Amino acid sequence: MSTFYGKQKNGPKGRVIPSEVIRTENHWLIGTTWTKNGSTGNKYSITMFNKGFACSCPAWKKCKHITAVEEQLAYEGDYST
Ligand SMILES: [Zn+2]
Repeated sequence: MSTFYGKQKNGPKGRVIPSEVIRTENHWLIGTTWTKNGSTGNKYSITMFNKGFACSCPAWKKCKHITAVEEQLAYEGDYST
């Protein structure tokens, strides 16, 4: 049993947050990284893992960047940035 980390060889930088919106387990977009703009002009990377989403921002909880990706997937079906 191996864990698939996608493009991030060292694994998620932050905590992987389980999603109640997207069923990430065995999802075809696992390993995909989205980029969202932060409120201070920073860019944050949100990556889907088997267990949920991880974001590169300092918040070790479900942040608005993860929420934005969830909404993008849930309502638009669009996985590009
Ligand atoms: Zn974030």
